Amino acid sequence: MQPFRKIAILGIGLIGSSIARGVKRGKLAERVVTFDGNPANAARALELGVVDEAPTSAAEAVKDADLVIFAVPIGAYAELGAAIAPHLASGTIVSDVGSVKMAVIRDLGPFIPEGVHLVPAHPVAGTENSGPDSGFAELFDGRWAIVTPPPGTDEAATERVADLWRSLGSSVEIMEPGHHDRVLAITSHLPHLIAYTIVGTATDLESTLQQEVIKFSASGFRDFTRIAASDPTMWRDVFLNNREAVLDVLQRFTEDLTALQRAIRWGEGEQLFDLFTRTRAIRRSIIDAKQA
Ligand code: NAP
Repeated sequence: MQPFRKIAILGIGLIGSSIARGVKRGKLAERVVTFDGNPANAARALELGVVDEAPTSAAEAVKDADLVIFAVPIGAYAELGAAIAPHLASGTIVSDVGSVKMAVIRDLGPFIPEGVHLVPAHPVAGTENSGPDSGFAELFDGRWAIVTPPPGTDEAATERVADLWRSLGSSVEIMEPGHHDRVLAITSHLPHLIAYTIVGTATDLESTLQQEVIKFSASGFRDFTRIAASDPTMWRDVFLNNREAVLDVLQRFTEDLTALQRAIRWGEGEQLFDLFTRTRAIRRSIIDAKQA
């Protein structure tokens, strides 16, 4: 027997379509349906065969689903939550893939009816691409999926979501939602903000210099441009919805940057060398953990 009868995926972009492909690969549901606010993306997902049906309303998509997964930008959750709430059957699990977790509980929690289980999750995997063509089943293989049940969540529902992610190829960590937001602020959100800033600074340079930046973009700048090509809607919503944690790490980052600025000004090479040696060790431990 397959673990789920019907999975409804709301939003069939990079992450939603990767889940749909992984569910098909592992035969994890009898039926996979999607609702996407962009009818062209829904039609494309049908054409690619990654979903079985694509009804034109979210209400229709979640009818009789035993698992509903939000895979839209965080800013769209509340409106979609209100639209599906009256159509959720008792026992349904509502989950998501959002990059921020406290905001999900804030925005979806009030709409979850009695007997329906809210089990938010976040696959720590992705690319800078968007849309149903960019997804692939292997995206989650060997990566982490963080499951963040709010206090009091039904344990069996949490375990079913954790099992889904294991079946999609990921290792699972159960984490308190607020802690998730603080960890991701430093590992993901701040690096994106830095990339957006550097590439933004380069685009403000006078045009001859700008052309040379593109022409000679060695690995340093080039790597930042890849990150800074990430979806603008998604990342706007991440920063607006993880405000405190991001501002907190940004404050610490600014202080550390100022210290480096001072070391360069006063020729304190030893300080620079010590920092670069410590950071090199971090890279090695990421490679050892097979997360490179
Ligand atoms: P995506 O490729 O842009 O897919 C999102 C899909 O949802 C698109 O088809 C989009 O249509 C549609 N959509 C947008 N607003 C909607 C609404 N109000 N109602 C219904 N559909 C709507 O984005 P993604 O990268 O898969 O990201 C989806 C979620 O995954 C986000 O919450 C993000 O935080 C999370 N996440 C992303 C990554 C990553 O690396 N990308 C990693 C982990 C988690 P349009 O194309 O017309 O906008």
